[in-house]
Amino acid sequence: MTESHTGGPHAGLRLMAVHAHPDDESSKGAATSAKYAAEGHEVLVVTLTGGERGDILNAAMDRPGVKERMSEIRKEEMAAAAAALGVNQMWLGFVDSGLPEGDPRPPVPEGSFAAIDIEAPIEALVQVVREFRPHVMITYDEHGGYPHPDHIRDHEVSVAAFERAGDPQAHPEAGEPWTVSKLYYTHGFIRDRMVLFSDEFARNGEESPFAEWLSNWDPSRGDLMGRITTQIECAKYFPQRDDALRAHATQIDPNGVFFKVPLEWQQRLWPTEEFELARTRVHTSIPETDLFAGIEGR
Ligand SMILES: [Zn+2]
Repeated sequence: MTESHTGGPHAGLRLMAVHAHPDDESSKGAATSAKYAAEGHEVLVVTLTGGERGDILNAAMDRPGVKERMSEIRKEEMAAAAAALGVNQMWLGFVDSGLPEGDPRPPVPEGSFAAIDIEAPIEALVQVVREFRPHVMITYDEHGGYPHPDHIRDHEVSVAAFERAGDPQAHPEAGEPWTVSKLYYTHGFIRDRMVLFSDEFARNGEESPFAEWLSNWDPSRGDLMGRITTQIECAKYFPQRDDALRAHATQIDPNGVFFKVPLEWQQRLWPTEEFELARTRVHTSIPETDLFAGIEGR
């Protein structure tokens, strides 16, 4: 096997990130994906649903014909985002459940990803794991990162696939067993990070876009930072992350909160993305700075 000249000490490993909707890969751990791809690893984003129930969240895209072509447009947006990150992407083909609103919340639509029996998506993902043979998988935590039924399902399906893919008794029709070494949760809503940026806005005499978010913070929840095991230095790839986000033009407002913090501040003040090592089958020591830490072979 040839050594990639861009590769680090273990170039040629495989990383799989499992996401609920097109655009989640660009808002959660995107710069990390771009970094590992650039360093000569194979990175595959698996998108569980087509994002069919996504609203148009960018006023500039709210024009005739867009809503009608939504699922086609979201495929084009996803392809552009994957190209920006330098990763491969595949669809699992389940149907977006939407975010049902109301108190109590109405049930998710019949036939949607969060409504169907969980065994079908688990088997589909086990098959993809056995084909791609990732060393590391990334998903959301048990709360889904944020409380969308598809995100919680993403967590459940990914954990089950991680557990079963290496088990020859499980899903014998879904390919040769492959044991994934590590499973991570991606964490974006880090309070310390928001505070740091808010302070920087204050120093510059500007209003913080996070003021409301921070004032609504429930301290009893504790900060996710306490769960972080692994920080990936990836500031160099923040521009690629932003390009990928902008590629999801129907979903991301280019004037929205994602783009309010100047890139230079982000790169200087918080140059990392945060992960929680949820399961490992290899020895590693915490804190980590590499998702592949402890993994030797290729
Ligand atoms: Zn989502």
